[in-house]
Amino acid sequence: MTASSRAVRGRLLSFRDDPAVVGAEGYDFIEDGLVLMVEGRIADVGAAEEVMPRLDAATPIDHYPDALILPGFIDIHIHYPQTQVIASYGAQLLDWLERYALVEEQRFAEPEHCAQVAAFFLDELARNGTTTAMVYCTVHPQSAEAFFAEAHRRNARMLAGKVLMDRNAPPDLSDTAEQGYADSKALIERWHGEGRQLYAVTPRFAVTSTEAQLEAAGTLLKEFPDCYLQTHLSENHREIETVRALFPWAESYTGVYERFGLLGPRSVFGHCIHLEDSERPLLSESRSVAAFCPTSNLFIGSGLFDLARAQDPAMPLRVGLATDVGGGTSYSMLSTLAEAYKVLQLQHQNLPALQGFYRITLGNARALGLEDKIGRLAKGGEADIVVLDAKATAAMAHRYARVETLEEELFLLMTLGDDRAVRATYIAGDPVHSRQDG
Ligand SMILES: [Zn+2]
Repeated sequence: MTASSRAVRGRLLSFRDDPAVVGAEGYDFIEDGLVLMVEGRIADVGAAEEVMPRLDAATPIDHYPDALILPGFIDIHIHYPQTQVIASYGAQLLDWLERYALVEEQRFAEPEHCAQVAAFFLDELARNGTTTAMVYCTVHPQSAEAFFAEAHRRNARMLAGKVLMDRNAPPDLSDTAEQGYADSKALIERWHGEGRQLYAVTPRFAVTSTEAQLEAAGTLLKEFPDCYLQTHLSENHREIETVRALFPWAESYTGVYERFGLLGPRSVFGHCIHLEDSERPLLSESRSVAAFCPTSNLFIGSGLFDLARAQDPAMPLRVGLATDVGGGTSYSMLSTLAEAYKVLQLQHQNLPALQGFYRITLGNARALGLEDKIGRLAKGGEADIVVLDAKATAAMAHRYARVETLEEELFLLMTLGDDRAVRATYIAGDPVHSRQDG
């Protein structure tokens, strides 16, 4: 056994499939389980009484008898340069960008600022139990360089990309189609597949890219077909009208991205709230992913994501769940589940707790096509783990006294939980956060 072995013991919960589709077959729950992590991977997992005899006596065991041990959470849409504009008052999308986000993002010309914020951001994700995220940087290549360098130093599986914007943006935040292409390509060659890092080609949205730039983004995806794409789509009515004016030839907003080859199974589209009927087949048939970001959609006043519609068996969309900080108001995927539940309630839909926890673990891993690496407590998988405490606050402990089932405990966690409910986080087998650390 090597020095980098460590085990965690407690109540294990891991999903094998979507409980909405397969019911109780979709998950494994072990009341007293143990996960052995060796060299960043899960080397053994099962009931403690079975796994313990196989352990080397020197292996340290972190025991959490009351806690729930799950795969680390995954957030498929978040902006690391917006950690100091989260909680900015009183504007809808286009004004919010102009007044707050695009002012703050100009600070990222400074590599030192990028490095400082990247470190804060990755600390904050770990405090919230999020071990993988798909991240927007700024237009500055140094913002992506700093982010990848810090994520790589921590051995955290992250997806990120330099934003592309060559119109309708402040001069200090504008690139050109050629420069954006060249900078993205250099970053892909440096970082895509380096350790656990993955690159996402990142046009901010159709409003801020010329046709030449969207075409260059499509060229990058053709040249590097295992890279990802992330952008925004159909978040706000004024945004949609602007896209219609900028691309009069397009049948729809989605049609703009389709024209330039940006749809596909590795493409993640933030929001997709106000889709027209004609846009759904384009997204469904290309197996593109919609990112549902409830705290952001409520805070910016964008609208209610219609999950039932997205899951229409006749034309299903792949959907992931995300925070969208800083339009979103919490880094916590637990708080995000709470708001997702409320957004769905307003439309007479629901989100059972088991489905919620599936979504923020294996479901989001599948949305990113990374289910063979992350999102499960399975032998051979990457050892990213979150440890949750359903009695983290006085109010939670008080409510917990009436909890009788796993589903009730999970629903308590998703309704009242936040970073305080995260007892510990492990990335690639290493403890990176424990609540005692503050
Ligand atoms: Zn966003």
